[in-house]
Amino acid sequence: MNTELEIQRLKAEWFQRFDRILYKDDTLPSSNLKCLELCQARCCPRVGMRNAPANEVASPVVVLLPFEMEFIMEKTGVSHDVFRLWPIDLTPEIRIEIGMLDLGKPCPFLQDNRMCGIHEHNPLDCRTFPLLPSLTPEGRLQWDLGENCPSLAFLNPAFTDHMKGIWHELEDVLPRAWWDLYEFADHWTGWPKPQETRHAS
Ligand code: SF4
Ligand code: SF4
Repeated sequence: MNTELEIQRLKAEWFQRFDRILYKDDTLPSSNLKCLELCQARCCPRVGMRNAPANEVASPVVVLLPFEMEFIMEKTGVSHDVFRLWPIDLTPEIRIEIGMLDLGKPCPFLQDNRMCGIHEHNPLDCRTFPLLPSLTPEGRLQWDLGENCPSLAFLNPAFTDHMKGIWHELEDVLPRAWWDLYEFADHWTGWPKPQETRHAS
C-alpha cells in the first residue's frame, strides 16, 4: 500500500463528510443556548483559564476529528502552528496528527468580544458542546453534559437529537485511538504554560 496515497484518499473522504455534516444549517434546530446572555465563552480555551476558578471553566480543550484541522486550515487560511498536534493511528498502517486547542495553545479564533471568529467552520467538538460524547468499553456511544455550562437548562432536545445523529454517523469511522485521545485530553493538566496573547484575561 502507498501510505501517502491512502492518507490523501482518507483526507478526501473526511472532507466530503465534513461538507455533508457541518453545513446542514437548514435542518439544524436551534440549540437555545444562552451563550451571549449567560456566559463568557467558558467552553473556549483561552489564556487566563488555567488560573480561573474551576467553576468558571466549562471545557479546557477542543479535540478535532481526523483531518478536521486540515479542513479548518483550508477554510480559514489559519496556520498549522496554532494547533497542538497529537499523533494517533487511524488504521494499523496510517498514523496522522490530530489538531487540538487547549490551555497551552488557546483558541486563536476567540475574538475579544468572546464570540467565535470562525463560527461557520468551527470544530464539531465546539458545535456539540455542552453535549459530551464518549465510548463505553464495549464500544457504544454514551453522553454526558458539560458541567459549568450555564445554559444546560435551556438545551433544546431537538438540537440534542440532531447532534447525536451526527455522532452516530461517525461511530463507524472513528477509531478507538481517537476516543482515547478525546477522553485523555479533557483530564490532562500537563499542558505547557500558555503564551500571553491579546485574549489574556
Ligand atoms: S455552550 Fe455553555 S459554556 Fe459554552 S459559551 Fe454557551 S453557555 Fe457558555
Ligand atoms: S473555534 Fe470558536 S467555538 Fe471553538 S473554541 Fe475556538 S472560539 Fe470557541
